[in-house]
Amino acid sequence: MEKVKTLIIGSGPAGYTAAIYAARADLKPVVYEGLQPGGQLTITTDVENFPGYPEGKMGPEIMDDIRQQALRFEADIRTGMITKVDFSKRPFVCTADDGKIIEAESVIIATGASARWLGIKGEDEYSGYGVSACATCDGFFYRGKTVAVIGGGDTAAEDAQYLAKISKKVYLIHRRDELRASKAVQQRVFETENIEMVWDSVPVEIVGEQQGFVKAVNGVVVKNVKTEEQKTIEIDGVFVAIGHNPNTRTFREFVELNEQGYIKTIPGTTKTNIPGVFAAGDVQDPNYRQAVIAAGSGCMAALDAERFLNENR
Ligand code: NAP
Repeated sequence: MEKVKTLIIGSGPAGYTAAIYAARADLKPVVYEGLQPGGQLTITTDVENFPGYPEGKMGPEIMDDIRQQALRFEADIRTGMITKVDFSKRPFVCTADDGKIIEAESVIIATGASARWLGIKGEDEYSGYGVSACATCDGFFYRGKTVAVIGGGDTAAEDAQYLAKISKKVYLIHRRDELRASKAVQQRVFETENIEMVWDSVPVEIVGEQQGFVKAVNGVVVKNVKTEEQKTIEIDGVFVAIGHNPNTRTFREFVELNEQGYIKTIPGTTKTNIPGVFAAGDVQDPNYRQAVIAAGSGCMAALDAERFLNENR
């Protein structure tokens, strides 16, 4: 059994920033990085809106910078996941995937959010064989090919533009007749010659062929929600960009969630319903979901944890 003052679960901008502040406050934070060390920014390319990088910088490099900063103040950053928690009494008992048990006087949850999937036929079957949720990771494989992007938000619109530079043609398939993406991004999509909009349409099946162990997507069946008409669009790859789900499964039994499944925090703070447990970053943010905001709330969580520990010695 290991005793820690502050356990940070997750390692995006929120987790690492919390680690910087907690380490500087001498809380000797232990960070479990989780499945995707560095979080969602590690699967993006150029980030142009994170302050401090006037020329923009690659997402993974920004995350490495923040991580190095946390290490400089001797945050104990570990590879691994917290798979079980007991927040019913303090100190909180948390179990890591290697079986290690940690007793934490305070916990900061910064587990972020993960890509949402369509749940249609063919999606699982062709996952990794033409179905992806990360254009910047897998776009490279579609040089000169035809792809579809599903969704109408900023991610889908940006993915479509990114893929349009690599691929021959991009179909942007959206279930309504207007995009949710910001106006500037929409404008660029509409001005890109090799992006074709497929409005009012939902994908109902991803189809492909299999020869021996080799399988590949060759089409997506879409249904027009107004006319009910179905058609198959011939493509070589499908990129699903329909938003994210907050990663709260491990904490659900104890921590209150809102109706969308995000952790509820007391407005203006990172306090959850359990004194001593704080939440920062996308796991508690259904509105902004920006790296800089996650970093800011990571700072808040560390300050909230420090105050809590001072008041509850
Ligand atoms: P989002 O804004 O939630 O958009 C998700 C899109 O997927 C929506 O258009 C939605 O349709 C569609 N959708 C959801 N479920 C679907 C389903 N089952 N079938 C078909 N379509 C479905 O998610 P996001 O684009 O990932 O963006 C998340 C947040 O990050 C947003 O706040 C966004 O502004 C931000 N973001 C910012 C940047 C940037 O600033 N550079 C880049 C990327 C993302 P409806 O429109 O009909 O709901």
